[in-house]
Amino acid sequence: MNYLPYFQHYPAALQSQIKTLLEPDKLAAYFKGKYPQGHQLQSTQALYDYCHSYKNKYLKNVPRLHKVSYAKGRDLMTGTLGHHSQTRKQHGGKVKTRYEIALSQQLKYAPEAVLRALVVHELAHFKELDHNKAFYQLCCHMEPEYHQLELDLRLFIVLNKLGVSFYDNSAQPD
Ligand SMILES: [Zn+2]
Repeated sequence: MNYLPYFQHYPAALQSQIKTLLEPDKLAAYFKGKYPQGHQLQSTQALYDYCHSYKNKYLKNVPRLHKVSYAKGRDLMTGTLGHHSQTRKQHGGKVKTRYEIALSQQLKYAPEAVLRALVVHELAHFKELDHNKAFYQLCCHMEPEYHQLELDLRLFIVLNKLGVSFYDNSAQPD
């Protein structure tokens, strides 16, 4: 499979660098060198606390997050990277808004920086729906390395597709 179209919005010079990485051995070596360990946010509670601390720091006007989860069956490449929702529910006379984030299950076993890119991305959507300039400015405000991390997130998705991700230690005894 040719994964390069997934990187077509990057400048040509960067794309030719990316092209050299899109092989199982090369990509695994890139991740091993840069991110040897996966994150520790295995429980829904730990993930929630992590998201909530970013929200409280940077998006004070957005109400409390109702739910954050790893969602099964979400394909990172064909679908969106993650999912955020604001649903309005009529509750007696009041309209209540529920703020939720669902991340692909594949992010459960990932480097912390890759998870961070997606969390920042989904949180920014609570303020900016589109991928416009203001959206990316907000992402970079929350995470100055956002653009690099989004590239690593995309490379991580390919790492999973190639079946060479090594972050799932759940089967090993401690
Ligand atoms: Zn988005």
